[in-house]
Amino acid sequence: MTKNIIQFQKGLSLPKFLEKYGMEEQCYSALFHLRWPDGFICPECGNKTYCKIKSRKVYQCHRCHRQTSLTSGTIFAATKVPLTKW
Ligand SMILES: [Zn+2]
Repeated sequence: MTKNIIQFQKGLSLPKFLEKYGMEEQCYSALFHLRWPDGFICPECGNKTYCKIKSRKVYQCHRCHRQTSLTSGTIFAATKVPLTKW
């Protein structure tokens, strides 16, 4: 379990923050890179190939078909609030 990097970005000004995380899609893409800096790795089997299921915003492993939510295991997991509100 790694600490969430976002909480350490207090130096980020609000306009810069919004620029970076203002769009929902950018939030997910930023989260993706925070979570998997070297690309997707399946938490179940370590496989690196996946497909993205857009409707549910989850990533499915090609090997074991485990579906991983970007927000599971992060502070965002419990929230139903759009990520832009964070
Ligand atoms: Zn897998």
